[in-house]
Amino acid sequence: MKRDVIIVGGGIIGCTTAHFLTRAGLRVALLEKGALAQGATGNSFAWANASTKTGDEIYHRLNAAGVAGYEALAAEFGAERLGIYQTGALQVVGRSDATGFRAMQDRFVTLQRFEYPCEWMDSGKLKMETPELMLPDDAQALLLPTDMVIDAPRVARCLAETARKGGADIRENCPAIALIVDDNGAVHGIETADDQIEAPKVILAAGADTGQLLADLTGFDAFASRFPMREVPGLLLTTPPLDRNPLKRLLFGSTTNELHLLPAPNGGIRIGSDEIDGVVWEDRSEAAMRRGGVALLARAAQIIPNLLDCVSLDECTLQIGVRPYPEDGQAIIGPLPGSDGLIIVATHSGITLSPIIAAQMADLIRGNVVPDLAAFSLTRFPGF
Ligand SMILES: Cc1cc2nc3c(=O)[nH]c(=O)nc-3n(C[C@H](O)[C@H](O)[C@H](O)COP(=O)(O)OP(=O)(O)OC[C@H]3O[C@@H](n4cnc5c(N)ncnc54)[C@H](O)[C@@H]3O)c2cc1C
Repeated sequence: MKRDVIIVGGGIIGCTTAHFLTRAGLRVALLEKGALAQGATGNSFAWANASTKTGDEIYHRLNAAGVAGYEALAAEFGAERLGIYQTGALQVVGRSDATGFRAMQDRFVTLQRFEYPCEWMDSGKLKMETPELMLPDDAQALLLPTDMVIDAPRVARCLAETARKGGADIRENCPAIALIVDDNGAVHGIETADDQIEAPKVILAAGADTGQLLADLTGFDAFASRFPMREVPGLLLTTPPLDRNPLKRLLFGSTTNELHLLPAPNGGIRIGSDEIDGVVWEDRSEAAMRRGGVALLARAAQIIPNLLDCVSLDECTLQIGVRPYPEDGQAIIGPLPGSDGLIIVATHSGITLSPIIAAQMADLIRGNVVPDLAAFSLTRFPGF
């Protein structure tokens, strides 16, 4: 069977890319070794934003384009159908946290310079905005109106289904086993357990499995240990639906007890914390997850009134996800240096970035110039 492009990996990046490529008139196959959206995509906090990416302007703009991409998808499909929640976000920091407050002021200045929508809220305005939350009297906030909550598995499955209806060959339980190359080393397709699929381009969108997958497909074992990506596990707790959910926007910042919390697609609250993630770094046992879950609920209960009266730990969902984290915290997007036809996409912030990466892939495969892609090339890492 002949295709224009094969995508390996059925997370949000693979599925969104399958939709964009199919819509562009390309013949696409997508191979997922398990079920769609069960990797990082199914265990993600799923906050689409460029507001926390202020260290590098090119990377910020890439993320802002990702957020804008969701606005376009919401217009195309309907926000509700895809599971795109335009909640906005609030960073909340008290004046008593001098370092955190200064950092929030610096972020405000940078975001204004980058022309990313943001608004400063003094304590009075914040109280009016969050009447049902228990925030300290000295807290102030940065309102980020375009940040969104994404139902990432829903987006992935819906876009994969749209691609399938458009003619894409979407296969689950179908691992890519080997790369087929011609005598000159150019990509010629992928071998699965059942058949060989021919295509001149292969996109690897395999998240945390990327290094191992490259090693398996090419036979160069060194990729498994040298691919410049760390795995960063994270713990998330999602409460069952709340009758009256007092959380209307995503919240983060030091005055939220170092938590990030959002109104979850199921009608409950999803809670995570970089601090509490440490609990599951070494130990991913059920007992460690429950310890982390207790801590997340206890901290959230200091912000959400009566939370512990409404939900118990046993009613909550606890998930551990593994972030595919390139060593410099940014994204790897583009051809594998030295290869002819093999393209790699591996990134944290993959929920935010999937619409813009999918658009870039559609341009790249059709031979169009993709602005700024050089900044995300693997060549920035030693050994590539
Ligand atoms: C706790 C946590 C919080 C996060 N929070 C955010 C956030 O708020 N905002 C944000 O933007 N991002 C966030 N992320 C990161 C984001 O979830 C990921 O960047 C994104 O899901 C990556 O998507 P992906 O499609 O690249 O990878 P994945 O979703 O991991 O999909 C890769 C797929 O490749 C498949 N695969 C591997 N090998 C093969 C093979 N040989 N053949 C076929 N298929 C194969 C796997 O089975 C998997 O389904 C978070 C992640 C975690 C874990």
